[in-house]
Amino acid sequence: MAGKRGALIVLEGVDKAGKTTQCNKLVQALQQSGQSVEMMRFPDRTTIIGQLISAYLEKKSPLHLLPSMKKKLEQGTTLVVDRYAFSGAAFTSAKPGFCLDWCKKPDVGLPKPDLVMFLQLSPAQAALRGQFGEERYEIDDFQRTVQQKFDQLMKDPSVNWQEIDASQSIEDVHREITTHSLNTINTAQNLPLGELWK
Ligand code: ADP
Repeated sequence: MAGKRGALIVLEGVDKAGKTTQCNKLVQALQQSGQSVEMMRFPDRTTIIGQLISAYLEKKSPLHLLPSMKKKLEQGTTLVVDRYAFSGAAFTSAKPGFCLDWCKKPDVGLPKPDLVMFLQLSPAQAALRGQFGEERYEIDDFQRTVQQKFDQLMKDPSVNWQEIDASQSIEDVHREITTHSLNTINTAQNLPLGELWK
């Protein structure tokens, strides 16, 4: 019988919600508890919105990372991912003229995360976390639209969403995230890896 697989765990949320901070802490905590775990980051498509389509046409999409990702999961390594297909779809479809369904299409069939934790933070609270507004996509109105797109994505019951109140202290958020992750690692090990948005 094959060994137990690792879990695919994703952190999502608007800018400054604390994803990077929490991914790092989660990986550390899981390692300390004896789990085989690795952090993964796809090329950050949220900063290259305008280039998204040409990137796909030039085959620079994250798809090339898939074989190694699947292999690691099969070998029992849990992957903690700082943003996944959801950010790409939410940020791109927040631009005028892009519809959400269309923006999801390139990523249909990607490995489905066993858990997506959405770090919920209002634009006002995010703005208090410094260096906001220096890039176009961080402008308030845009962030609000991105949040609406995430709200739409979170209505999809085929994805295991977990909303986390990201306005709590770093340690409190960390505790909640670690608990959800350990539960997911336990349940995912006996389940097949799913396909996203299929
Ligand atoms: P993201 O990756 O979602 O953009 P970061 O983890 O980079 O967010 O955090 C953005 C900023 O907010 C950093 O300066 C970080 O130290 C700070 N930060 C993260 N989490 C919290 C929190 N729970 N409370 C206060 N500040 C936080």
